[in-house]
Amino acid sequence: MANFYRDNEDMKFHLEHPLMKKIVALKERNFEDKDKYDYAPLDFEDAMDSYDRTLEIVGEICGDIIAPNAEGVDQEGPQVVNDRVIYAKGTAENHEALTKAGLIGMSLPREYDGLNFPIVPYVMAAELVSRADGGFANIWGLQDCAETIHEFASKEQKAEYLPRFAKGATAAMDLTEPDAGSDLQAVQLKATYNASEDQWYLNGVKRFITNGDGDVSLVLARSEEGTSDGRGLSMFIYDKKHMAVKVRRIEHKMGIIGSPTCELVFTNAPAELVGSRKMGLIKYVMSLMNGARLGVGAQSVGIAEAAYREGLAYAKERRQFGKAIIEFPAVYEMLTNMEAKLNASRSVLYETSRFVDVYKAYFHISQERSLDKDEKMDMKKYQKLADVFTPLLKLFASEFCNEIAYDSLQIHAGSGYMKDYPIERLVRDARITNIYEGTTQLQVVAAIRGVTTGAYLGQIKEYEASELNPQYEYLRTTLKGMTARYEEAVTKVNEINATADHNDFLDFHARRLVEMAGYIIMGYLLLTDTTRNDKYHASCEVFVKMGKAKVASYLEYIKSSELKDLGIFKK
Ligand SMILES: Cc1cc2nc3c(=O)[nH]c(=O)nc-3n(C[C@H](O)[C@H](O)[C@H](O)COP(=O)(O)OP(=O)(O)OC[C@H]3O[C@@H](n4cnc5c(N)ncnc54)[C@H](O)[C@@H]3O)c2cc1C
Repeated sequence: MANFYRDNEDMKFHLEHPLMKKIVALKERNFEDKDKYDYAPLDFEDAMDSYDRTLEIVGEICGDIIAPNAEGVDQEGPQVVNDRVIYAKGTAENHEALTKAGLIGMSLPREYDGLNFPIVPYVMAAELVSRADGGFANIWGLQDCAETIHEFASKEQKAEYLPRFAKGATAAMDLTEPDAGSDLQAVQLKATYNASEDQWYLNGVKRFITNGDGDVSLVLARSEEGTSDGRGLSMFIYDKKHMAVKVRRIEHKMGIIGSPTCELVFTNAPAELVGSRKMGLIKYVMSLMNGARLGVGAQSVGIAEAAYREGLAYAKERRQFGKAIIEFPAVYEMLTNMEAKLNASRSVLYETSRFVDVYKAYFHISQERSLDKDEKMDMKKYQKLADVFTPLLKLFASEFCNEIAYDSLQIHAGSGYMKDYPIERLVRDARITNIYEGTTQLQVVAAIRGVTTGAYLGQIKEYEASELNPQYEYLRTTLKGMTARYEEAVTKVNEINATADHNDFLDFHARRLVEMAGYIIMGYLLLTDTTRNDKYHASCEVFVKMGKAKVASYLEYIKSSELKDLGIFKK
């Protein structure tokens, strides 16, 4: 079978980005682990070689095991037996193969039996697994919870829980409840402290919890009696060994069937507080969700890659009117647009991953020693970028994933509507990406700060000033024109918004403004990619054309819009 890493040159291209030198240096701290662990890298080249070789193993497992299992898992699905989840046979096989290969807990430090991988190669592994089976990617990807434990838990908790991941422990992230979906401030699951036992207990219900029967769960619960907002919430670790959480049911879903979505009942479930009380939602869940949003970004790109490949293969093979359908402009245009969106999504995925890598590495260094002034400023810069790029990535990658899967099915036409081709499953799997970890509308709520604070514009200006291939100066000129239109749109919305005593006008146009910034940012990213490798030229050209038309139409819409128009839309 195919090796999903080796058969895709784009992975190595992004792995070899110039910023990796800085990331590896920060992550490996002068390669001090080399004297303690025989598998720790000796220098930059050695580290890069180890990422490359590990991703090759991931690619092989994806091609040989996970992808061939995907259809069977989709048909079989998980079950609940005696309040516990039993995975589909293929899911259990996939998990065992990745555990045996040492691929759980990849980003954890070596002292916890991890590989100390930066986020970039870890996210690449997530992309590969998602291309093989988007549903299984959730079970594997929930190792993100280990990263949150590593960041915020006590020394004792880290020593207790983190080494279990390398041995194959699975995790869950228990946030959502029947009345607390997008609005997590409404969480009600009760955490009660028993002072005589020095023990917390959890009682209540969670719903829609992926892999809810996992070994280690991070649970958001109300620890402060009498409160009703986010300030009364804390985060807890629940260990499955207590057997105090029952899986009441698994949801019957449209897609990602292999990923068990559970309704959970907590009955006096013993739990450990993570970090400080009241910081559960404000600090820890925000960090956990940002990691998970990056994971859904990777999942979206992986599913989109699979869907694009299916569409391309079918278009070459299917003949109508005496020729392969790929020869019709209507079909090849669809495929080229799909490829451009895929390349743009992947570029913003790895750009965001690099930003997260730099600031997280500084964060961990700051736990060991104090950072100097320059380091502090650098950390702040990358943290701000990560904060505004994460929702932008999640929004675009998930929406593009759906569009790519939709168009791929359209290329398959009637055959795609049948269960005979994988595209039917891929369309169903794609649909969740713009819903969980915050819907697209909630990503806009987070991303609009990037517009109003000028953070996107600041980064656009940095890209604008960077060294780009002079041959493609005309594309920079187009992107500059798009930026001028974006600035005009922001000014117009701000001016009208300021005339009201509410923010409805800004909220009404928020998605348009965020998308305008996104098209410009991804246009520059593809132009930077084209400067490094000409193979991205077509995608860049097509994406910038697409973006130019979008930005112009959004500006027109905003220019013709007035405050009183909101009344037309209000229901
Ligand atoms: C398959 C699956 C797996 C999941 N896994 C997990 C998991 O592992 N852990 C977990 O904790 N949760 C999980 N969830 C829950 C998921 O994160 C929520 O479903 C999601 O955040 C949306 O919440 P909701 O479904 O209650 O929708 P609602 O919050 O009711 O939203 C309904 C609609 O209103 C819109 N809306 C709501 N608020 C606003 C606003 N302020 N501005 C604009 N629009 C708004 C939404 O965009 C949406 O269109 C999972 C869900 C599914 C379907």
